[in-house]
Parts: sequence; C-alpha cells; structure tokens
Amino acid sequence: MLAAFLGLGAVATGSAAYQSMAPTGQWFGHTLARLPSGGKRIALTYDDGPNDAHTLQLLEVLAEHSVRATFFMIGRYVRERPDIVCEVARAGHVVGNHTFTHPLLIFQSEEATRAQLLDCRAALHDAIGEHSNLFRPPFGGRRPATLRIARGLGMEPVMWNVTGYDWNAPPAVEIEKKVCRQMRGGDVILLHDGGHKAMGADRLQTVIATDLLIRRYKDQGYEFVAVDTAVSHQPSAVR
Ligand SMILES: [Zn+2]
Repeated sequence: MLAAFLGLGAVATGSAAYQSMAPTGQWFGHTLARLPSGGKRIALTYDDGPNDAHTLQLLEVLAEHSVRATFFMIGRYVRERPDIVCEVARAGHVVGNHTFTHPLLIFQSEEATRAQLLDCRAALHDAIGEHSNLFRPPFGGRRPATLRIARGLGMEPVMWNVTGYDWNAPPAVEIEKKVCRQMRGGDVILLHDGGHKAMGADRLQTVIATDLLIRRYKDQGYEFVAVDTAVSHQPSAVR
C-alpha cells in the first residue's frame, strides 16, 4: 500500500518505506538532520508540546543552564494553551510547526497537508506572533510532496539524527544512555515535552534527562544551540 502510494515498484518498497520515515534519509529531498558545521555543538529539540505541566518544568531546567532549545508544537495544543507557548517564546527558545493534529503526512492528501501546516502556523501566530519557519513532520514521516508543500509555504523541514526514545517515559538515565550512544558531534537530538495523543503526558523523565545531558556535555566542552542559530551560520546547507 505504501509503495502504491509512493508510486514505486515492489523492489523499492522496503527502502522507500524506510526512507519515508528514517529521520536522516535524504532520498525524498534534503532535510536538515544534523547541524551544518558539526563539531561540538548540540541542538536539543522537543516535540508534541505545549504540555501542562512538563513544558514549563523543562523551561526551568533550560534556564538554569542558559540553554536555548527548539520546540516543535502541535497546533491544537497551542490553541488550548497559548500561555505556555508564550512562556517558551519569552524565554528565547525557537518555536516551530509540528502540524495541527499530528497525522502521519505520508497518508495525507496535498490539500490536507497544507491545511495541517497552515492551521498550526495560524495557531502559533495567534499565540506568539512571528516565529521560526521550521517544520518537523510528525513521526518523521514525509514524502516528496510533503517537503515541497512545506517549502512552498516558506517552511524549512528539520529532522534529527539522535533519538531519545522517550515516548514511553523510560527512566531518565535510560534516555541519557540511549542519547549518548548515538552522539557523533553536530547532533540534533529528538526528545518530547508532550505526547501527541493527549495533553498531559508525563514527561518528567525527559526533563530530568535534559538536565543530565546538559551537565554531561557542557563538562565536555559542548555548546548547546537552537536550530535557528545553527541554520543561520550556514544558510546554504538547508536550501
Ligand atoms: Zn510528534
């Protein structure tokens, strides 16, 4: 079904399906998955917020370490809790688009995809006004049309190359361990301050893991950056 949807032959099915979901896959067009200049820089990214109460707890940890991060937010939650989004923006973090209801965009029509992006953008605009043009597809799922539509709306797709595997709220030390194993330098780390199924997901372990990760890598001389900062250093890398 996926192959038919993508218009690809059976031989390519496995790889095409993989490429449509793999965060670092580049078959379907270039997407930022690592920081352009690599090195000792790390971008922490948080998906599926705003979330009561863990987004605000996370802001406290980030403020304590003077670290800027990037948040990809779900539009319907933004409508529900614009106050939390305001706090995130006020703290200087980057806020990006994670669609309005978090569907797997591989299975959405072009019209529906466009509506998902625009509805989320409108919600963010009503909450905080001007915000970044960054967009992250839910579940990392995209096909060529997804990227074309996003770019047509002036948005820049951002993936990741390190996964925190924090969906099911494992203990913070486990999240830390999994992240550390994947670190190569210039990493974009995927974590979650919310859950796409409902507001109120328990993300305390992610908040604690964030503190552990910042301490560990700052001690090793790493710098934490928001994705917009990373991109502006080398704009050609994301065109
Ligand atoms: Zn998500």
